[in-house]
Amino acid sequence: MTKKKLYIKTYGCQMNIYDSLRMEDVMRPFGYESCNEPAGADMVILNTCHIREKAAEKVYSELGRIKREKDKNKKMIIAVAGCVGQAEGDEIFRRAPYVDVVVGPQSYQSLPDLVGKVQRESGHAINLEFEDDKFDQLPEEHAPQGVSGILSIQEGCDKFCTFCVVPYTRGAEYSRDVPAIYREAIKLVANGAKEITLLGQNVNAFHGSDWNLGQLIEHISKIEGLERIRYSTPHPRDMHEDLYKQHWNNPKLMPFLNLPVQSGSNRILEKMNRKHKRDDYFKIIDRIREKRTDMQFSSDFIIGFPGETDQDFEDTMDLARRVGFVQGYSFKYSPRPGTPGADMDDQVPEEVKNERLQRFQALVNEQQLAYNKSCIGKVMPVLFEKPAKYAGQIVGRSEYMQSVTVEGGEELIGRIADVEVTAGRGNSLGGVVTD
Ligand code: SF4
Repeated sequence: MTKKKLYIKTYGCQMNIYDSLRMEDVMRPFGYESCNEPAGADMVILNTCHIREKAAEKVYSELGRIKREKDKNKKMIIAVAGCVGQAEGDEIFRRAPYVDVVVGPQSYQSLPDLVGKVQRESGHAINLEFEDDKFDQLPEEHAPQGVSGILSIQEGCDKFCTFCVVPYTRGAEYSRDVPAIYREAIKLVANGAKEITLLGQNVNAFHGSDWNLGQLIEHISKIEGLERIRYSTPHPRDMHEDLYKQHWNNPKLMPFLNLPVQSGSNRILEKMNRKHKRDDYFKIIDRIREKRTDMQFSSDFIIGFPGETDQDFEDTMDLARRVGFVQGYSFKYSPRPGTPGADMDDQVPEEVKNERLQRFQALVNEQQLAYNKSCIGKVMPVLFEKPAKYAGQIVGRSEYMQSVTVEGGEELIGRIADVEVTAGRGNSLGGVVTD
């Protein structure tokens, strides 16, 4: 079989990164091997994200650039996948007729059939079905992911937060069955993974084979060679007893969690349809820290949601101080077509959003720097992942997802080694390997 080049450009979340890896696995049996640029590629896939404003426009301008490559190689197949593919559908063919295939996040397993159809009959091919058995149709074989692997266990969302497109682009909550997840985890570890991050839009709503996430974590933590487990992205409303117990008692479950709260104001939480109050959030944090005192947190924030007053914003600042987040992902609210938030009257002016976002990010950066400085002198286990920017240096991750750079050789890669921290910076640590 002649080898063909496949270039995938991935936008957005870890779920998209996982899906891109699986798209490579889907196309590999048909002779496609991944390459790093669109020039000279036989197939190009844009795996898109719809989470922020202008997301779709960015995709169309990228398609314009890819078109120039297709003009040089008429046989090139261009496919749009992911959430913009799902949201825009046939509109993509109308605006960019040189695109051959459009698939959604729940139907990319059908890519080979769609490519075959286009090659046989020319024209366009599209599949936006929410196919529940997507995972059953994916090849068992998947490429190694290195020392830190990601594994999708749950997809879709039933929460309908008023700012979010995910329930519309990824469909209803769906959980994979435990035996399939376990097999994939074993394979990841056999291929060199020391760490696995379990993924889902609402990962702690997982209910595959009638298990919950706490039970699943306990189960896969028995895999020999697996040293670290993380999960992303949880919802405060789906925290449960078995999951608390894993945080308290399972040393393989890392003492760092990104738990999105979005706002610190009860009024805005209600408008966002988050269905919990700020005190419920504090209770979760305190509950975990009750028996896991070294636990640290990060969170997602939307600044400037419609109707947000100065007091609502101050409530968000106050919540961030009280939890003491050591990292944070904060964005200005951007109206998403088709979501209730986009039709709300009291949209916040851009200049107010900008001013508040700056203040908020300054606060979280200050907390992150203070925490990183407080690590100086401590000995922390670090999972080394790859060579650092400068020769003779290797970079890895602490249990708190801090980037840690040390002097050392490639023999460190894939190892978890103790590091005495000698420097704490805004986004990273420096140190010396002690063992
Ligand atoms: S929980 Fe809310 S923000 Fe998260 S994916 Fe679902 S609708 Fe979107």
